[in-house]
Amino acid sequence: MKEITILSGKGGTGKTTVTAALASLAQNIVLCDNDVDAADLHLLMKPVVQKEFVFAGAWQASVNEKECIQCNICIDACRFDAIKINVNGFVEVQPFKCEGCRLCEKVCPVAAIDAERSTNNHWYISNTRYGTMVHATMGPGEENSGKLVSTLRKEARRIAVDNELEFIINDGPPGIGCSAISALTGTNLVVLVTEPSKSGLMDASRLVELTQSFEIPIVAAINKADINESICLSMENYFVNQGIPLLAKIPFSKDVVKAMIQGETILEYKPYSELSRALIEVWDYINMQQLEKKL
Ligand code: SF4
Ligand code: SF4
Repeated sequence: MKEITILSGKGGTGKTTVTAALASLAQNIVLCDNDVDAADLHLLMKPVVQKEFVFAGAWQASVNEKECIQCNICIDACRFDAIKINVNGFVEVQPFKCEGCRLCEKVCPVAAIDAERSTNNHWYISNTRYGTMVHATMGPGEENSGKLVSTLRKEARRIAVDNELEFIINDGPPGIGCSAISALTGTNLVVLVTEPSKSGLMDASRLVELTQSFEIPIVAAINKADINESICLSMENYFVNQGIPLLAKIPFSKDVVKAMIQGETILEYKPYSELSRALIEVWDYINMQQLEKKL
């Protein structure tokens, strides 16, 4: 079983479009949406949830007004300025400022503060028309997305091993933060999706640096390659210099949005288009690498 992770240096480059297209070309796969902060693969894959789990999120403190003797020790102790006296004169924790360090719980002389882990995050095992999908939703303001990504990937691996599936296809988060690191560690191949803009090139180079520091093989696809030919050429040169195979230059097309509106992958919407051909080339390369045992 091999893991393919589709990443982009920033959001909005077409990463999920590429992921969904690869899912529709591959067989024997588990799909895993690692972009837990802004999950959208479900819009194209239309998963039917089979199992739902709570992912325990950050600690959140709260004051029991009946126990509180209003000594204000907790207000002085909180480094995040998250405890205030409310309009009714009671000591209160402001949920969006609380960092869950639990110091207030320890300093309160009458044990009037309790901390509980948030239950606003959920993850799911679902069925889709292309196989099992593992995905999640995070509540507003929730953190620990890196840990949630690790949970999803672990479950995807279990499903793949149990069912002797050939590939796990991870739709990774954008950027190079904690959740991107969680998404790429231990993967067999990173497919970098980028677009020809100055920021696209800069973000792609940061992601390349990160991926190479983990010694993970990386290939690239330039999406909307025809919107800026000169930057596209700079990108191609950059990939050549880095020894990164450029698998496809995907042309700009309004069909991407039209397919999305219909909840279809581009391969389903326009199977014989230039766009689909470019994506087929990406999958053919991955498949060939697998057949030749180079992954
Ligand atoms: S848990 Fe930490 S951050 Fe939250 S209110 Fe208590 S001291 Fe402040
Ligand atoms: S430390 Fe405890 S008793 Fe004192 S104000 Fe805070 S919650 Fe109330």
